[in-house]
Amino acid sequence: MKRTIFEVILALALVGAGAFGWTNWKQNQTASKQVTELKTASEEADKASKEKTDAIKAAEEEMSALRAEMAPLEKAARELTAVKGALANGATLADLETAYKSQKKLSAERHVGLGALRMLTKGAEDAGSVDAFRKALDLSELGDRKNIVCAAQLGLLAAGEQVTVLAECLPQSLKPEGATQGKSGKDAPTEKSSEKAGQAKDNGDDHSKPGDKTGEKKTAHWSYDGEMGPERWGKEFPTCAKGKSQAPLDIRGPFVKTRSVVTTDYKEGPLKMVNNGHTIQVNVPAGSKLRIDGVAYELLQFHFHRPSEEKLDGKPMAMVIHFVHKNAEGKLAVLGVLLKEGNENPGIKTLWANMPLEEGPEIAPDAVTFNPGNLLPREFDFFSYEGSLTTPPCTEGVRFFILKTTVNVAKEQVTAFPFKRNARPVQALNGREIFTN
Ligand SMILES: [Zn+2]
Repeated sequence: MKRTIFEVILALALVGAGAFGWTNWKQNQTASKQVTELKTASEEADKASKEKTDAIKAAEEEMSALRAEMAPLEKAARELTAVKGALANGATLADLETAYKSQKKLSAERHVGLGALRMLTKGAEDAGSVDAFRKALDLSELGDRKNIVCAAQLGLLAAGEQVTVLAECLPQSLKPEGATQGKSGKDAPTEKSSEKAGQAKDNGDDHSKPGDKTGEKKTAHWSYDGEMGPERWGKEFPTCAKGKSQAPLDIRGPFVKTRSVVTTDYKEGPLKMVNNGHTIQVNVPAGSKLRIDGVAYELLQFHFHRPSEEKLDGKPMAMVIHFVHKNAEGKLAVLGVLLKEGNENPGIKTLWANMPLEEGPEIAPDAVTFNPGNLLPREFDFFSYEGSLTTPPCTEGVRFFILKTTVNVAKEQVTAFPFKRNARPVQALNGREIFTN
């Protein structure tokens, strides 16, 4: 019996040990599985964490880019707040309205001014402001004043009015979708006019085409190609077709010797430039002179053609500068300086840094002065002939002096000129003599 009991105990012990061992093994296995799972989870967490770090880094970069973009806007906002604060009591607006009341009809400029002042004083939704901008737009569409058109359109846009805004009127921050950001959520029909204006921008020659502006003004437009190109100028400007001493010329021999002496006395003065849709023109303050055999001609303006309008033995140069002068009797004289591709021209560098790329009113950059003499060569040997204005109305009686010595212009400077081609073709000589000194 004792033995039997012992055997039973032994058997139980064995079973117990086995069970213990199995449980242990089982627990071990579970633990190992858990470790593997934890390891995988940890690896995944690492990966996710790295992805998050990358995302944070990207967000930080974006933030810093945004901050850089915001800086000028913040400045503009501060300025605007200051101006609004100064006008808040409405006295300035009241003064101006009283002053204008005596006049029957206000100019587009004054309407725009009133609109702006009302908006600053009374807020964007002020009906009087909207009314003033509308009046300005109506008036300016009759004329050719893009700055007023832009001011009025942007004023109406700010007031949440439905308005077509020309692409060139929009500040950089509002392009291109900004045109439809009317406050009241109205869809301004800007797409079409924006595209159109954008195309015109790429093709300098198209600037003067009717339909370029909201105004659709139909006046005597002309251009350097297409329907209103040089071959058709005569339709509206008869002298262009019928004149017998038209310019430019293809300059080639035989030449007639002249003893005429030409000198310049150009002065430094404040820079004033205009993109008139046909060229870049620098308007020169009084005091710069050209002397032809001692007779003084006042320099009025100078402008550029690309390529040169004049040809030398059939070949044009990269560009030409025409310095336009007038004497006391009203006679015009043009001094032509041919630009040849070569080194950068420092004078042109200054001009190009300030030139308006789009057609518009004259600009006068702050504190920039310019001496037209910087664009002249040292040598003053010339070809000379009687010619005409090389743009409509092609008026004759203009004396031309084309300098033989060329001046350098860099290829990049030629390309940066906003008109791809603004040169009238050479005209018939019709028995005229070309002189040389
Ligand atoms: Zn010219």
